[in-house]
Amino acid sequence: MPELPEVETVCRQLDPELAGHEIEALEILDARWCRPTLPKKLEAAVSGATIEGLGRRGKYLLLGLDGARTLVMHLRMTGNLVLVEGESKLDPSEGRRLYEGERSVSERHLRARFRLGDGRELWFTDPRRFGEAFLVDDSGLDERFARLGVEPLSGDFTPEALGEMAAGRTAPLKSFLLDQSGVAGVGNIYADEALFRARLHPLSPTGSMKSEHLEALREAVVAALEAGIDDGGASIDDYRDGRGEKGTMQDEFLVHTREGQPCPQCESPIVRIVVSGRSTYYCPNCQVRLRRKPRRRRPARRSP
Ligand SMILES: [Zn+2]
Repeated sequence: MPELPEVETVCRQLDPELAGHEIEALEILDARWCRPTLPKKLEAAVSGATIEGLGRRGKYLLLGLDGARTLVMHLRMTGNLVLVEGESKLDPSEGRRLYEGERSVSERHLRARFRLGDGRELWFTDPRRFGEAFLVDDSGLDERFARLGVEPLSGDFTPEALGEMAAGRTAPLKSFLLDQSGVAGVGNIYADEALFRARLHPLSPTGSMKSEHLEALREAVVAALEAGIDDGGASIDDYRDGRGEKGTMQDEFLVHTREGQPCPQCESPIVRIVVSGRSTYYCPNCQVRLRRKPRRRRPARRSP
């Protein structure tokens, strides 16, 4: 499932390719992609628009259009946004167009196609069909994302901000990191990687972090996400970048999906548990399980 580094990779690749280009026509092949808006209505609104750029908020892709409008897209589980140019990368076999060896961007899974003025095409492919899109006026963007948390790669993500979010919360740290209303863009992969880097056990109660833990976790989240971006994201299953190619972060995981393999730090076998219904990997030796802060007892009053 694409997380911040995967979405950021797509943005960095495609923003310079798309900015300034006209969308000659948007063709929506799956009404579910843009519901509840009718495909014909969205096609009419977007066709003929000029692209101003491609940005990101959390795991959302923001395709800026002229007229102060933004087409917001979310890849969800298996979505991909891929620029298709020329026939060289397309496989003419099977009567359908296909990246060689890359079934995830097969035309079979095409949900929406942007035909650009210069003949190139931008494909939104999605085998599981959970991906979505909606058009908003830029003036309504903040309201649309009101419940989305802090951007972890921005200056707003400080130990103090993290401390305010964490205060009083009893949920496990892993669940806290998955909650998009706290830190935006972190998902199952990078939550595991960040908790390992911070040496914090995924089941530690969130509100039990002291200032040194908050600082460590903030640094670890940033480091894990930056490592993912440096590797062009992780392609465990369907994720492909903006050019239809796999990332390499899956080869660099410290703990995620590494059950039974040696911890990179101490060589203890990595353990897998389930937290919030998600597979969670950690080192039982390196990652400290914090205890819930004891409740302060009221001092006993002396009877007068
Ligand atoms: Zn270890």
